[in-house]
Amino acid sequence: MIEVISAARCTGCNICVQVCPTNVFAAVKGGIPVIARQDDCQTCYMCEVWCPDDALYVAPNADGTEGITEPELEAQGRFGSYRRSVGWAKGGRVAPAPQIMSRLRG
Ligand code: SF4
Ligand code: SF4
Repeated sequence: MIEVISAARCTGCNICVQVCPTNVFAAVKGGIPVIARQDDCQTCYMCEVWCPDDALYVAPNADGTEGITEPELEAQGRFGSYRRSVGWAKGGRVAPAPQIMSRLRG
């Protein structure tokens, strides 16, 4: 289940708002998105894998969160861990194709 948006990392690009299949996030004008409908999260990891700034953390348990905080995730190096695991990071595929990124950014 989606658990954390890092306010320190997030640039407010709203890609997570676009890619989430169940509309969990709400865009905030002039700010960063909020987790508005957490219970609708399907734990699909799409937001985490598409976030270009590794600013999201999805807990692996589909039924609830871990109670982990942003500082704890930073200290443990877990932001971006799913993206790294699927190769969309240094050493793997650097990022989604530019054409796709530009479409998502509108
Ligand atoms: S995709 Fe990442 S950087 Fe962009 S708004 Fe969402 S959390 Fe922030
Ligand atoms: S894990 Fe999937 S369903 Fe949950 S917030 Fe991210 S994109 Fe949406």
